[in-house]
Amino acid sequence: MNNTTTTDQEELQIEQEFRALLADYATTRRHQREEIIIRAYHFAKQAHAGVRRRSGEPYIMHPIAVARIVAREIGLGSTSICAALLHDVVEDTDTTVEDIQALFGEKIAHIVDGLTKISGGIFGQQASQQAENFRKLIFTMSSDVRVVLVKIADRLHNMRTLEFQPQEKQLKIAGETQYIYAPLAYRLGLFPIKQELENLSFKYEHPEQYAEICRRLQENSNARLEAFERFAAPIRQKLTDMGYEFELKARIKTPYSVFKKMQDKNVSFEDVYDLIAARIVFTPNTDRSEREQCWGIYSAITEIYRPHPERIRDWISTPKSNGYEALHVTVMAQDGQWIEVQIRTVRMHEIAEKGLAAHWKYKMGIDDSTGLDQWIHQIRELLKDPNPNAIDLLDNFKLNLFASEIFVFTPQGEMMTLPLGATVLDFAYQLHSKLGEQCIGAKVNHTLQPIDYKLQSGDQIEVIRSENQRPQRDWLNQVVTSKAKSRLGNYFRREERDLTKLGEQLFDEELQRLGKSEIRDMAIYRLSTYYGFRHPNHMFMQIGKGVVSLKPLESLLVPSKKRWWQLFSNPLHKQPQQQQQQMLPLGDEVNDTQPISATQRPNQNLKHIILSDFNRDVEYQLAPCCHPIPGDEVFAYRDEQGIYIVHKATCKNAERIKSNYGKRLCTAEWRMHHTLTFAETIEMQGIDSKGLLVRIFEIISNHFNCNLHEVKITARNGLFAGTFELEVYDTEEIQLICNELGKIEEINSVKRLSSSANKSF
Ligand code: MN
Repeated sequence: MNNTTTTDQEELQIEQEFRALLADYATTRRHQREEIIIRAYHFAKQAHAGVRRRSGEPYIMHPIAVARIVAREIGLGSTSICAALLHDVVEDTDTTVEDIQALFGEKIAHIVDGLTKISGGIFGQQASQQAENFRKLIFTMSSDVRVVLVKIADRLHNMRTLEFQPQEKQLKIAGETQYIYAPLAYRLGLFPIKQELENLSFKYEHPEQYAEICRRLQENSNARLEAFERFAAPIRQKLTDMGYEFELKARIKTPYSVFKKMQDKNVSFEDVYDLIAARIVFTPNTDRSEREQCWGIYSAITEIYRPHPERIRDWISTPKSNGYEALHVTVMAQDGQWIEVQIRTVRMHEIAEKGLAAHWKYKMGIDDSTGLDQWIHQIRELLKDPNPNAIDLLDNFKLNLFASEIFVFTPQGEMMTLPLGATVLDFAYQLHSKLGEQCIGAKVNHTLQPIDYKLQSGDQIEVIRSENQRPQRDWLNQVVTSKAKSRLGNYFRREERDLTKLGEQLFDEELQRLGKSEIRDMAIYRLSTYYGFRHPNHMFMQIGKGVVSLKPLESLLVPSKKRWWQLFSNPLHKQPQQQQQQMLPLGDEVNDTQPISATQRPNQNLKHIILSDFNRDVEYQLAPCCHPIPGDEVFAYRDEQGIYIVHKATCKNAERIKSNYGKRLCTAEWRMHHTLTFAETIEMQGIDSKGLLVRIFEIISNHFNCNLHEVKITARNGLFAGTFELEVYDTEEIQLICNELGKIEEINSVKRLSSSANKSF
């Protein structure tokens, strides 16, 4: 931003924009507070004086543009308009919230304060910060929803001017918009804004597909509109005959919704038949109900065109939870194409366009029975969950935003809203988490159904429970509501904690029985290496479950006398066993409980992946969500613990990860056909004594099961010196070996000599 004074021409332009804002305001319902808007404008202009945006415009043009969106596109009043004009003042200038309060009063100051708090964006550097920002957003939203409405207007203007941002910022902002703001706008009933946000995000995220779809939409647009006119003409005639004042317009799909349809239905552009839809907005007569008149128009249309029996959506009898009301029907046009017709009254239309603000206008205050309040309440419930995982939180939230809904009933006839795809189990959890945990099925419309039965609108459900029932892991795949998911997650976390504790206790008891408690760390390392567990807690949990046996512990800790001699009878350069033990994500069952033969090297550290930017092996895990196998196209990202999680490129989580973790991504490739290990040399010095060598071999070859490549030993004047070249998988292992060797009394020093380049076998 350059600090330069504005030119006369710019002054004129600013003045014009502001006048346009006042004109927008004048068309709103209550418009007698022009004075405070003028004051806010002068204040903001003064505060931002001399500052320019990246586009080169004077900064004040941005707050004015946001205020115009707030007034014209969302239909909010003077308080929100002032807050929009002042929204960047506290953030970017020396002005404080107290100043705003003194000059413009409590309400405006509160909104500006909320906006300043969430200005960091949802996606910070760290997930913890994301969660924090997100909490703030939701809490400010539930204290005054205008905070979020102004925020959405701010985001819309930033998206409209996104071309001036550097590319990496474009991608981040577009990703964030797609992820949170578009669904949020939808949830608040701002349908045109939601569409524009999605479409702009699409434009910056997939510029080539965007351009291609725009081109193809343009190509036949004239023919398409002519066909539409042929379709619309008889309807227009009919509505005129019925005496209605109305508007009938073509609705062309946005490039993004065409793209989405192509993706969702896996079809080509030519196969997207509903590029165009019709919308009727009419002024109803006062003598009959709006609903009745909408259905009247429906039957008039179906006298001309044949209706599709399964595509009638009555959002009038049961409005969507964002307040949307309309009657949608699909009929067959002259050319055999199905065309959707949306029938709305002027009032319904305004609600569909301006969402919540229109609700206020018609209801003068938020009606407690609207789905929106219920939804905010649900989100707050979700936030009370102590689960600290920010990504889960965002996903659960998204789940709640996106879901289209079904309406079901309790046996008492109480209506509940559930997301599409909700099951009996979801319903049970919705009523009470105890009921969910003990659910064994339900009577759906008096017929017995299993817990994973998918509910449909209108179903009446009576949950059946049993004291003996316990939640099962696969239940997580049988629920869709965030409430059920988070309750199940809590349950399993609790259960895992208990089992891990139990496993650890059993392990310690066994160790005590063997009289090996003093080498506990070593014992943990050996047994987890033996079974291929990356983390001791994973092992303890499986022990607690009784899946993993403690039996091998004895032979792993009590050395066998003969073992080291085998080294000399075997060739030194032994092929490492290619036996593969897959890493076990927390909570997965151990399928193979067969003890691994002691002469094989259970190579849990086998690295199958090379990550770019690293010339050494780094810690990674194969993502449990998509289970990549060798040959899959993969990528990796670094999680908060610094571990690289390898996902398939086609993983459904990939898009989300890419938008959230841009900076933490790295490419990954499979390391095919060979396994890499390091050759490491250890140098030891000490006092020569009987049996020393035996003990050294014992540790290297027997305890750690390492292959030895070369051994050089000299013993002179009672002193011993030796170098041992071994084959290890990682530095952690060499360190453990050194530590163990150091424990031999006669050895004075142990050190790693070299870490030679990767050697393949
Ligand atoms: Mn702004």
